[in-house]
Amino acid sequence: MAAAGRPEEVRVPPDGVVYEAGNRTVMPGLIDSHVHITGSGEASWMETIKYTIPYTTLRAAVNARTALEAGITSIRDAGASWGIDVGLKRAINEGLVPGPRMVVSGPGLSITGGHGDPANGWPPEVIFRAREMSVVDSPDEARRAARTHLRDGADCIKLLATGGVLSEGDLPTSRGLTVEEMRAAIEEAHNLGKKTLAHAQGSTGIKNAILAGIDSIEHGCYLTEEIIEMMLARGVFLVPTLSAVHHIVERGAEAGIPPYAVEKARRMQEDHWRSFRMALEAGVKIAMGTDAATPFNYHGANALELELMVKAGMTPMQALVAATSRGAELLGLEAGLLEPGRLADLLVVDGNPLEDITCLQHKDRILLVMKDGVVQVNRGLTPAP
Ligand SMILES: [Zn+2]
Repeated sequence: MAAAGRPEEVRVPPDGVVYEAGNRTVMPGLIDSHVHITGSGEASWMETIKYTIPYTTLRAAVNARTALEAGITSIRDAGASWGIDVGLKRAINEGLVPGPRMVVSGPGLSITGGHGDPANGWPPEVIFRAREMSVVDSPDEARRAARTHLRDGADCIKLLATGGVLSEGDLPTSRGLTVEEMRAAIEEAHNLGKKTLAHAQGSTGIKNAILAGIDSIEHGCYLTEEIIEMMLARGVFLVPTLSAVHHIVERGAEAGIPPYAVEKARRMQEDHWRSFRMALEAGVKIAMGTDAATPFNYHGANALELELMVKAGMTPMQALVAATSRGAELLGLEAGLLEPGRLADLLVVDGNPLEDITCLQHKDRILLVMKDGVVQVNRGLTPAP
């Protein structure tokens, strides 16, 4: 972005195109710091059992386009199978397919039987899925897996520090990787100047991840005063992903979500929101993330997370910051603000998100999506003559 300001402050180059946006809102493009582009919001992951690699890849490309069309100009993929995230990022960067700017993590690292071990819930014969995550059971294995993913194109390393909602054989409060296992992987990422993120729901696993040197806590459902202090002291981000739990609780087992997952989500939701409020009040850095791909949590519907964060205690401005400049800071992108030197990622919105945060949820009100200075979507804004 060369310049930003009011019309009288900005000099338009002679060959520049001028869009008259009237009294619409011009704002930075949205950044979703936690999605899974290879998943599409299926009620149960069992629905994906017959998805082949080519089919999953094509679906991922459609998901990326859908997100971009909804005003999401950058995403961080928090765990994907078969290198699809790395390949899709390349295709988007080369202009082969439309999509948001991607920061990718490759497959997440999990313990045997943990959240992310494909054999936790999948029939043992479905070994086809085995490359989805990296199963590691020692610091050396974690180090090797991290090095491999970094070599293969990961921009960050995802670690599974606790059990989760959608994995059948563990609990959100179960510990996942040990401190030593995470520390080994984190060392390798930091050695290359890359960041790390931890799926961490229960207190023990969250603490382990922080002690190991993690950069962001994803979900963070059972925070304590002690944990908040640790996060503040070390500048650790929280990516709350309220949407993930919200959709599972709202839709329930009637919609085809595995009953064990619904049960775990229902038990967790109150603590999840309480933890979010604690972090917000204490001043922990919060970046917006949806966990898009979890049941009924669709790519392109990401902006619901802002409404949930406002319901949980943020002002609309705080939610917008979490979804723009804070996300950019976490992802290491020169985006998220309308100022010279930043990437020209911006939206023209029909409405004022500061007055009504839900206006961002309506695709037809996202009139223009620009990514790195190039118009990606234009719903009716005509260049001035
Ligand atoms: Zn996730």
